[in-house]
Amino acid sequence: MRWMACLVLLLGSTAHADWQRSHWDVMGTRATLEFWRDAPVANHHGIDPVEQAIRDEFARINQLLSPWIAESELAQVNARAAQQPVEISPEFMQLLQRSKYYYRLTNGAFDVSFAGAGALYDYRAAQQPDDAALARARACLGFDFVRLEQDSVRFTCNAVRIDLGGIAKGYAIDRAVSLLREHGISHAYISLGGDSYVLGDRQGRPWQVGIRHPRDAEAVAMRVPVSDIAVSTSGDYERFFIANGERIHHIINPSTGKSSKGLVSVTILAPQGIDADALSTSVFVLGKDRGLELVNRLDNVSAIIIDDTGSVYYSDDLVSADEAGAR
Ligand code: ADP
Ligand code: MG
Repeated sequence: MRWMACLVLLLGSTAHADWQRSHWDVMGTRATLEFWRDAPVANHHGIDPVEQAIRDEFARINQLLSPWIAESELAQVNARAAQQPVEISPEFMQLLQRSKYYYRLTNGAFDVSFAGAGALYDYRAAQQPDDAALARARACLGFDFVRLEQDSVRFTCNAVRIDLGGIAKGYAIDRAVSLLREHGISHAYISLGGDSYVLGDRQGRPWQVGIRHPRDAEAVAMRVPVSDIAVSTSGDYERFFIANGERIHHIINPSTGKSSKGLVSVTILAPQGIDADALSTSVFVLGKDRGLELVNRLDNVSAIIIDDTGSVYYSDDLVSADEAGAR
């Protein structure tokens, strides 16, 4: 059985001359941008200046955080921080501080040092570590081994490795929203893979976020009218392979070093992309009960969770008053 739980944005009517739309590949995924201009403008490449600014910003963030670029700040930290404190930029420090916040908030379910184990998987080549290699990796797995000083970071265990893949796209979305606002845009949709933001409304109508029913591609399980909100989905279908009937995917439970089991899709709505992104990964690892318990405790955060039997669960704020009364 294989079905995909996917988030669809119900964009309403599509053809209007003043909606600017584009997409491009960056940060290992696809960026989609849609925004309203009263009077379209273009630079000498024929690109709207705000789109150019967002493209440049995503490229910059990729250069900063990519584990695949040897000169990236992240790769430099991974290469050197076990030997000595490594001085880092305020921006990188801010991301590590936010990562630490979520590590604590989730009792370690969100852990950017998952990469000590995560880096042993090759999803394209369908390779996974054996038990001995995983046991070695687990010995240095945990953000407690990442020490943040004033302007430097130090690993206190030799094999620590970090990866900001669970928070970077949400951060990039927030940067894009700032750029949209700076350029005077007040109606827009921006996404990077499963992370997105809806700015303003669609000229008098709200943007609609729809959750497709996992067992019926034609049915929409629910629609939420939204504006000025970040929406992030974590799913087990983004990067995976099947081994001995088991789905090996890219969201790692730090307590085992293996793919997190039980849920197939988690959608989070929150005011900021960075939080929606970190929380979608967090709730995926925490599971339905602990995940909902956390989300219900947080202000202005909503969750839509689909488990591996196809059941859908919502945070309390999304459950209608009648239903809540009936429970
Ligand atoms: P997607 O990449 O599908 O948008 P997520 O937002 O859930 O999904 O991010 C998944 C990424 O988060 C993984 O590719 C990996 O880089 C990182 N990651 C995996 N497990 C964890 C974890 N337990 N804590 C923090 N980050 C993680
Ligand atoms: Mg995430």
